[in-house]
Amino acid sequence: MERISRLFWPVVVVPKNAVVKNVEGVSRSQKLLTELGFVKPAHNGTYQLMPMAQRVLDKCADLVRRRMRSVGGQQISMPVLTPSELWKKSGRLDGDITEFFLLEDRHKKQFILSPTHEEAVTGMLASIAPISHKQLPLRLFQIGPKFRDELKPRFGLIRSKEFIMKDLYTFDRNAATALETYNQLTVAYDALFQQLEVPFVKVKAATGMMGGSLSHEYHYLANSGEDQLIKCNTCDYAANVETTGETNDSKICPFCNSPEVQRVRGIEVGHTFVLNDKYSRPLKATFLQENGKPEYLVMGCYGIGISRLVAAAVEVLSTERELHWPTLLAPFDLCIIGAKQGSKEEKVAHEIEHQFCLSLNGVCSDEEVLIDDRNYLTIGKRLMEAKKMGYPMIVVISGKSDGTAPKLELHLKHATMEVELSEALSVISQYTRRKQKLYSIISESNQSLNISKASFG
Ligand SMILES: [Zn+2]
Repeated sequence: MERISRLFWPVVVVPKNAVVKNVEGVSRSQKLLTELGFVKPAHNGTYQLMPMAQRVLDKCADLVRRRMRSVGGQQISMPVLTPSELWKKSGRLDGDITEFFLLEDRHKKQFILSPTHEEAVTGMLASIAPISHKQLPLRLFQIGPKFRDELKPRFGLIRSKEFIMKDLYTFDRNAATALETYNQLTVAYDALFQQLEVPFVKVKAATGMMGGSLSHEYHYLANSGEDQLIKCNTCDYAANVETTGETNDSKICPFCNSPEVQRVRGIEVGHTFVLNDKYSRPLKATFLQENGKPEYLVMGCYGIGISRLVAAAVEVLSTERELHWPTLLAPFDLCIIGAKQGSKEEKVAHEIEHQFCLSLNGVCSDEEVLIDDRNYLTIGKRLMEAKKMGYPMIVVISGKSDGTAPKLELHLKHATMEVELSEALSVISQYTRRKQKLYSIISESNQSLNISKASFG
């Protein structure tokens, strides 16, 4: 169990009479995450993540990692510095490079602080002896920092100069198997986004600077979103306006002809691309076919902006004053608030709290419990803060009793109740079970994998 008094948690104190300005480029998530001590702006467009935010980010990365492994992804780490010559070979250095961070080492060798790693991973495969067709499909991913020199960084972690991405690169023998890979990965993405329980839209997308032939984007819908989308309310059709063929004035769904077409704004949190041989051909990354002859690898790439997703989820779910989290990403599941120091209930409340914490064993993971032990603060003040933080369950132990049994106050997102200790434990246990179920959702195509894993306990 974590105690707040021991936590490094730099909450910003906003003076009561402060004039709240509506600053352009500041979003709801940014405001709340900064004021509530999750992130600290470091420079224009870069952020320091405090322990509270790191917990959330780690949970998100963990979910993504499990999901990628469930479809055969193997995690690797590549250097953030990529030699520019690789980008010269792929042709991207001759394109628009205004958003790249370019730098030189002491030998005047030029590098890029990588915004993405197609060149690096393809160059790595080209540098080894060609792999056998038997090793395909190959799926490699990493989770780490990426860089983009944004002209106008804004909305905190939603558009920053440095961010955390999951990027997966796939290698197949031909277009047909690359398409199979694509389908498996999009099923995995769908399952992951369902697990996060934030409404999302999957749209047909332009392939843009990545090249290739097939692409989808995953968006969270928010007014501050920078992408314009067209969404059909009759069928599943949705597209990014940027995409060739879709225009701002589309009024009829091109898929089902329904006139129920809506314009919405989205924050892109994931994307998928079939790249074909756009990188493997110029960088000479091949595999050996059955006949012993080399052939270019057929590639795909699949990204999820981990730090952006966390902020975008908050942007969508929260209110102006309170953070709300996806169940699987809340920084802590349960916050316990005890009696105020010096109050006449303090001693009895302390004993109940001790007993309650012992009974949590097996009901709620120790790691998910936060004790607000700042007993010099009133219960009211700590409760208000805990609600702002969005902990899904808050238990107040004030030492109250109905004469026979102690009563606890249990605050859930949409309900408050006064309950006995056993009742509180039963609600917490229900929550834990639901969360565990949600955590282990595996997409249909991987159902058998899931069952076999479960049998090992
Ligand atoms: Zn339609």
